[in-house]
Amino acid sequence: MLPGTHMNISRRSFLDRTALSLLAGATLPQLHAADQVRTEPSEAGEKPLVVSTWPFGKASNEAALKILVGGGAILDAVEQGIWVTESDINNHSVGLSGTPNAAGVVQLDACIMYGPGHQAGSVAGLEGIRHPISAARRVMEKTKHVMLVGEGARMFALEQGLESIEVDSRNRYLEWQKRREKERAQSAGKTDTHDTIALLVLGTDGTIAGGCSTSGLGGKLPGRVGDSPIIGSGLYVDNEVGAAGATGIGENVMRYCGSFLIVEYMRQGLHPQKACQEAIRRIARQDPKGFELSVNFVALDKQGRFGAAGTDQGFAYSVTSPKASRVLPNPGVDRSK
Ligand code: ASP
Repeated sequence: MLPGTHMNISRRSFLDRTALSLLAGATLPQLHAADQVRTEPSEAGEKPLVVSTWPFGKASNEAALKILVGGGAILDAVEQGIWVTESDINNHSVGLSGTPNAAGVVQLDACIMYGPGHQAGSVAGLEGIRHPISAARRVMEKTKHVMLVGEGARMFALEQGLESIEVDSRNRYLEWQKRREKERAQSAGKTDTHDTIALLVLGTDGTIAGGCSTSGLGGKLPGRVGDSPIIGSGLYVDNEVGAAGATGIGENVMRYCGSFLIVEYMRQGLHPQKACQEAIRRIARQDPKGFELSVNFVALDKQGRFGAAGTDQGFAYSVTSPKASRVLPNPGVDRSK
């Protein structure tokens, strides 16, 4: 059984929705039975439910859940959950402790989506602001825009009273270079200088929201923006269907609108995990690099089913409900199809 599959909703409604989609002329991807499912989480179907990328997402999930069970707002859960990772000085891929760009400057990307009303806010290339997720939320709630970048985003964040921190870029850059050299030596040239927290929430009343935050690729060109703040790439929420979020090499996610694609697969009836796997297969089919791309996704749907899949072997994701809070392994993708 897939994560989150409930007897009452799985087969019957899947067949119903499949039939409806086919009648509507939609093209359903083929399902591949060989896709592995290594876990059968008991949190499936639970509400509230929080799903995020990477093991470091677990602490964020737990902070988000605490807000939700305390009766707090779903957007507060997303924002304050992500604060935990953005504030973690040991995390070198999210927040101001993240990896600098090629000019030695930490430039942050973040976005947030709120299902009802299909609202979105985003910031990119943001410097010196402690919580980029809060800047994204303010863009969504206080402006008529969806995205602000660079100095404009920073000025807006400051105007909104968000906390700024002077970052000692030079020292940070030198530290990062040292760390990278060490990692290179230990891993035969392969270094992992990027990660993102993408955090998805299903509220008790069925409301869906999500957020995403990262310092992007270490050593990126100044001004480079990845997938994370791009609505539909690093994150997508549709209150009727579900949500998806991404981590990996942003360029590979952006070219395929990865998170949007997953939500659309779920709309056609695919389980969140199958939707993630199918999106990766579709990307790999089209891309000259095939499965060598670093693309990893998490997803949840309106019924509380969830899943993930990634091309990175070390990818894992975190799932938290009132029943349990756990890190689950990358279920992988059947590459033979
Ligand atoms: N997707 C992020 C970016 O490309 C990095 C990551 O999630 O690993 O900026």
